[in-house]
Amino acid sequence: MKWTQSLIPTLREAPADAEIPSHQLLLRAGLIRKLAGGVYTFLPLGLRSLRKIERIIREEMDRAGALEVAMPALQPPEIWEASGRAQTAGDVLFKLKDSSGRQWFLSPTAEEVITTLAANEINSYRQLPKNFYQISVKFRDEIRPRFGLMRAKEFIMKDAYSFDTTDESAMASYQKMFDAHKRIFARCGLQSFPVEADTGVIGGSHSHEFMIPAATGENEVAYCEACGYAANIEKATSGIPKTAAREIGAAIEKFPTPGVVTIEALAKEPYKVAANRQIKTLVYIADSKAILILVRGDDQLNETKLMARTGAVAARPATADECFATLGAKPGSLGAVANVPADVKVFADERLRGANDMTTGANEDGFHLKNVSIERDIKVTQWFDLRTVSAGEPCVKCAKPLKIRRAIEVGHVFKLGTKYSEKLNATFLDADGARKPSVMGCYGIGVTRTLQAIVEQSNDKDGIIWPLAVAPYTVCITPLGVAPGSPAMTLAEKIYTELTARGVDVILDDRDDRPGVKFKDADLVGFPLRISIGEKSLAKGEVELKPRNAPLQAIKAEDAVEAVMKLVGA
Ligand SMILES: [Zn+2]
Repeated sequence: MKWTQSLIPTLREAPADAEIPSHQLLLRAGLIRKLAGGVYTFLPLGLRSLRKIERIIREEMDRAGALEVAMPALQPPEIWEASGRAQTAGDVLFKLKDSSGRQWFLSPTAEEVITTLAANEINSYRQLPKNFYQISVKFRDEIRPRFGLMRAKEFIMKDAYSFDTTDESAMASYQKMFDAHKRIFARCGLQSFPVEADTGVIGGSHSHEFMIPAATGENEVAYCEACGYAANIEKATSGIPKTAAREIGAAIEKFPTPGVVTIEALAKEPYKVAANRQIKTLVYIADSKAILILVRGDDQLNETKLMARTGAVAARPATADECFATLGAKPGSLGAVANVPADVKVFADERLRGANDMTTGANEDGFHLKNVSIERDIKVTQWFDLRTVSAGEPCVKCAKPLKIRRAIEVGHVFKLGTKYSEKLNATFLDADGARKPSVMGCYGIGVTRTLQAIVEQSNDKDGIIWPLAVAPYTVCITPLGVAPGSPAMTLAEKIYTELTARGVDVILDDRDDRPGVKFKDADLVGFPLRISIGEKSLAKGEVELKPRNAPLQAIKAEDAVEAVMKLVGA
């Protein structure tokens, strides 16, 4: 490709609404353009990298025995009603009506479609196992699209779905996909690591996310360097000890705490009740019913755990008015000892189990209760692990201190079990003559997000540093002087033709521009190799070979092609 024949609109400055480095670089390097919030056009260079990532995914999915299919983006709501997800996934579903008034959903994922297909086409254990995948455009009604391709309304995803006869066979399919994902990210030049994950709205029993460490990532991961334990913070647990029990003291005592509405204030003079001896009482509205949640004063409630443990589809903190309506007091004085209506469930964090000599709100503004023994004084409906782990807590497996870092989720594997196959009748006739539901798994990769994650992980002050396998072009030839027939241009075209013939992706920067401009653009786009041909070095029979992330070297002009072939490993 000649530079002047492509469309590579590089920008000196990043647009103001691009918040993170990778988003800025994708725009500045002329790889993508925003059409509307969360909706992007891929320009020729961006699309080349995207297609290379897709090719790697296809190769690895095919190698793992998965079958490529193409499912429609338009989905009838009936299959979502049947799976029970029309409500649970309701807020991310793009809904539209056709001219006859019939409603449709735009696909955010395709469990319902593929399970319907399996229900119709798979009838015998002899047809199993099967694994189907597609690489296609998906939609999410994202309220706050941001960070470019990271959180978009329209994006490309690879989604795969396995069907097996038994749990053991399903686990083998899961492991195959787990390994395939690992290989895919490695071949894309990404350093990814798998973490245990919450199964969330999609359901299922076993799940890992593939994470890319990045300061700008929207996920937090707790991990242990000693034993390799790693989990999304939404799921992570630690070996932190429960609250130490003390001699059961006197009966509960109410004491005045005028103006005290925070854990911190109660920890100060004159009260001096340490945060770890306080019970934090939170009112939540879960599926439109009020519930109480108790965590220790120095702990934070993890909302994902709350939803997972209670099975709530939607949960949010109650407003001050809702707190008052439930308990007769405002936030800051809430407690679960007295005045809890019989129909309000109380969920307590495991760390409080057995705790006594605790202090909590009295459900009366300006008063607290001390000498509270949870098991004696509070009617707890159910105990759960509800707290968020912090850095430094002992690893749940080996007790070494946990670390926490931010990361970008690029892939996800789930063991779904029979949740969808039962609801959508994806059954098969087994060897024993019994009809059974298929055991399913699903496996996703955010393809457009992976592209941006590569840029987020691999860049410097000058621009992107593309890994070889996914660069838009592997080599950029930069003749300094582009007049047709000039020695520099003649040699540039010769090298271009030879490399292209040998299967290397080359772009020839034939713009009549200053060397500084051309070098800056080549670095910004991030081609792995640049060959510069100037009149001066050419007079010595030399050209300059500059790997994007290594020093420049002068080489003999006639060695240029072989030098490139060696560096690209071809
Ligand atoms: Zn550990």
